[in-house]
Amino acid sequence: MDESPRYCRRCGERLVTGLVATSRRHCCLNATPIVGACPEHGPVGPHDAVEQ
Ligand SMILES: [Zn+2]
Repeated sequence: MDESPRYCRRCGERLVTGLVATSRRHCCLNATPIVGACPEHGPVGPHDAVEQ
């Protein structure tokens, strides 16, 4: 398990991870990995997630 918190690069909000984020992934049509869900921007990929 990766327990390091991630933050949205655009607004700095902490991303929600876990079942909430993963369950929101679109089926096969979208293969982009979702790091977490931003309260402002929704699902966030690796490019928009920072550790601090
Ligand atoms: Zn955001």
